[in-house]
Amino acid sequence: MVNEKYTEDSNTQELLRDTRVEIDLDKIAYNMNSICKMVGPDVAVMAVIKANGYGHGSCAIAPVLLENGAAYLAVATLTEALELKDCNPQWPVFIMGHTPDRLLHHIVERDITQTVFSLEQAQILNQAAAAAGKKARVHIKVDTGFHRLGKSPSPEFAEEICRIYSLPAIDVEGIFSHLALAGDKENQEQFHSFSKFVSLLESRGCCFKYKHVADSIACVDFPEYRLNMIRPGALIYGMAGYHKGFLPVEQVLIFKTAISQIHHVPAGEGVSYDYMWKSQRDSLIATLPFGYADGYPRNLRDKGYVIIKGVKAPIVGVICMDQCMADVTDVPDVKQGMEAIIYGSGKDGSMTIAEAASLAETNKNDIIARIAARPPRIYKKSL
Ligand SMILES: *Cc1c(COP(=O)(O)O)cnc(C)c1O
Repeated sequence: MVNEKYTEDSNTQELLRDTRVEIDLDKIAYNMNSICKMVGPDVAVMAVIKANGYGHGSCAIAPVLLENGAAYLAVATLTEALELKDCNPQWPVFIMGHTPDRLLHHIVERDITQTVFSLEQAQILNQAAAAAGKKARVHIKVDTGFHRLGKSPSPEFAEEICRIYSLPAIDVEGIFSHLALAGDKENQEQFHSFSKFVSLLESRGCCFKYKHVADSIACVDFPEYRLNMIRPGALIYGMAGYHKGFLPVEQVLIFKTAISQIHHVPAGEGVSYDYMWKSQRDSLIATLPFGYADGYPRNLRDKGYVIIKGVKAPIVGVICMDQCMADVTDVPDVKQGMEAIIYGSGKDGSMTIAEAASLAETNKNDIIARIAARPPRIYKKSL
């Protein structure tokens, strides 16, 4: 079904490391269904799986998303798009980011849909597509205030879009913008600016199959901004960042490891670099084989914890690149090899992604997307 790295065989292979990420594909399906049910049949869902599916493995989750209603798979870069196309050339893949002119021929060769915001980009695509006897599909990016990608609405940009529209080997399939979510008033201004510009273009005969501005938060909190396509990322992975609306979603991943060694540390002795932590009592300190190179936030020193046999074991001392230490003095019968939950569902007392984000003073997307490639992904699927 997908490339060999992600086949079911990978789950039956010997697990070469205790530190691993378990991914419940049924939860991806549940979250995707929840999103589709919320928006109804008239709104297409472009599932955002950039950054290797926010760390979940884009090629492994793509079929689940497509089977459960995704119309498109969105990534940030050409490399990510090519990785998906290597898994399955039929998958509908959209690049939300900029692809440098010298690389645009790949877009045509691999039938990828590309974001464009200039006539020059479209002309290069047009030429490559014409030469190949194909049409290059694009979505136009409009900058309504975020000032990241796209051009601001203007008569000149409208003229440019109409010229792109008239290129014979270009299919202008969509037009989109991105909300900064700075506040209700700012959202309204951005949305109004987008709508006005699209109306102007439509009055000039440039019509678009897809119009989209809403990410995970916007599509739940502001139904009026869904238009006929949404671009949720976070929701797919069970990250509920909305404030006004509600959508039932479940955290997809569990991050786990196992104790490598246990030390008796007498009262008063230090642990890890710089002895930043010193034991107040005779302690049992467990060494855990994960560190910041696995994507665990280094600033969780003195705040992070793992759950071992249902008991909270605080991380003590500086978090190293590949290992860290936890105080397991209060874990009954603690032994080398015992499982430790790094990020879990929360039901067992484990740290959820939401809590990790809050403790590390960042957002939930950062916590999941930064989990490194080093820990293997293990996939669970009921069917
Ligand atoms: C990442 C991204 C999204 C998805 O964002 P979430 O907050 O994860 O839903 C949507 N649109 C664009 C342009 C993005 O870059």
